[in-house]
Formats: sequence, C-alpha cells, structure tokens
Amino acid sequence: MQIIQDPLEMQQIALAVRAAGKRIGVVPTMGFLHAGHLSLVRLARERTDVVILTLFVNPTQFGPKEDLAKYPRDFERDAAQCRVAGVDLLFAPEAGAMYAPDASVYVTEEKLSRGLCGASRPGHFRGVCTVVAKLFNLCLPHVAVFGAKDAQQLRVLRRMTRDLNFPIEIVAGPIIREPDGLAMSSRNVYLSADERQQALVLQSALGEAERLFRAGERAAAPLKTAMEHLIAQAPAAKIDYIEIVDDDSLEPVATLEKPALIALAVFVGKTRLIDNVVLR
Ligand code: AMP
Repeated sequence: MQIIQDPLEMQQIALAVRAAGKRIGVVPTMGFLHAGHLSLVRLARERTDVVILTLFVNPTQFGPKEDLAKYPRDFERDAAQCRVAGVDLLFAPEAGAMYAPDASVYVTEEKLSRGLCGASRPGHFRGVCTVVAKLFNLCLPHVAVFGAKDAQQLRVLRRMTRDLNFPIEIVAGPIIREPDGLAMSSRNVYLSADERQQALVLQSALGEAERLFRAGERAAAPLKTAMEHLIAQAPAAKIDYIEIVDDDSLEPVATLEKPALIALAVFVGKTRLIDNVVLR
C-alpha cells in the first residue's frame, strides 16, 4: 500500500492508473477507521481494480463550536487497517495542502442539504460537497462508496454528482452496527461507559418506529412521539432532531406513503450521534 500526502501526486497517480486502463474506487473518510469504513472498502474492491481510501479531517465541514480540534485520530492504526483491508493507496493530505489560503470557490447544494443535519450544522454540507468534489478531481474515481449511516450526506452527494456531471458511480453501503445495535461511528469513543449504554436509545427509537410502521401506522406524528418518549427515558440524551422525510426530496411528510427516511440526531452527553432507517 502506498501512502500519499501531496494532492497533485495523488492526481498524477490516478491519471496513470486510468491510462493503464484500470478502474479506480474511492472511499472518502475522516479516519479513526472502524468496521463501517472497512465495509465500504470491500464494496469498492468488488467493483474496481485500484482502491483509494482518503483520510482527511476536513476543516470546512466543521462549525466553529464543533469538535474539529479533538476529532479522534490514529494514523498508524488507520494505515494498518487499510493494509489488511487491501487498500492500494491511502491518500492523507494536510489541510494546508488541500485549501489555498485564499480559496474562494465552494460547492453548495441548495435543497436536500437545508433540513436535518444541514439545519443544525450551518455550512456543513457546503464543506462536505466542496471537499468531496476536490477528492473526486484528485482521485479520479470510477466508483465512490459512501455509507448509509450518513443518510443526508449520501443523498446530497448523489445530487452533486448528478448535477455537476461527475462521471462517477455512487455506491451506498449499509449501516454497520456494534453487536448491541449502536451504529459504528468514530465519535463513539467520546462516550463514557454510561453514555455508551444510553446511546442505545437511538436504535431502540428507530426500531420502535419501524415496529409501529410494520403494524400499519402511517401517520408521522405518532411515530415521532413514540421515539421522543423512548429517548426521554435516557437522562443523558437530548434530541437535536427527529425527522420523517420523503426519501427522495428529504421534505417532511405527514403520512408515510412513499419510501420515507426517519433520521435523528441526538446528543448523548456532549457527543452528537446520528442514525436512520428507511421505511418502505
Ligand atoms: P466518516 O469518517 O465518519 O466521515 O465516514 C466516512 C464514510 O464512512 C462515510 O461515507 C460514512 O457514511 C461511512 N460510515 C461511517 N460510519 C458507518 C457505519 N457505521 N456503517 C457504514 N458506513 C459508515
């Protein structure tokens, strides 16, 4: 496995790989890798000849009061996991090399990114779209793999890829969970033992909504109320949002007729966790 830091070197290598007629798969991450990330590497491996994992804690997608400075990092462990997973190229640029000091061009998505996490984290998806567009131009992938865990991000990036005509297939990987159901996240390390236990309410709340839906409930309001009640039972949990939205438009729905996305963000202590389910 080759480790590359310089963005232009990354682009030169990607051009050479393409010139050799090989297909490139990219898995963008912020590192502190877990089995969720590695599942995306497998999906890229199955579809392409050369897999690039990008590791970049992107400053432009963090708000001023968010956890950029303390975001968990362990480069050596990440590199070892990439080697075992069969990553060919680990692209880990420095922030200073990715953004010119006077950078003034950004990519904004103006519909799907408005609600949900976009409402709680102003500027977040502008940062995500901008960095992913740059990673696409540096890695020149045929396929890019993202996790369903970040449901809104996946939909926003699909839209960006379509609307800006990137010749890239976007592949989604399912949410990988801990044995007890908590969605894997690099941020789970922030949780104390007690908070880790209480964090299970996210999955229980989604499970309860799904159970009610399967039993025939189609109104959004009672599903939301049931989830709120469940989450209220965990004293460390504070709801940021629970939304039931159309799976395509991400507009809130009152009735679940078409496929609907239930997405939630909950603070457990100081840690903001997200999870979701699609009901169809
Ligand atoms: P992150 O490093 O958290 O920015 O995530 C990088 C990629 O991994 C994104 O496409 C995420 O959606 C995906 N990802 C993170 N956690 C999981 C998970 N538990 N299951 C599947 N994909 C995940």
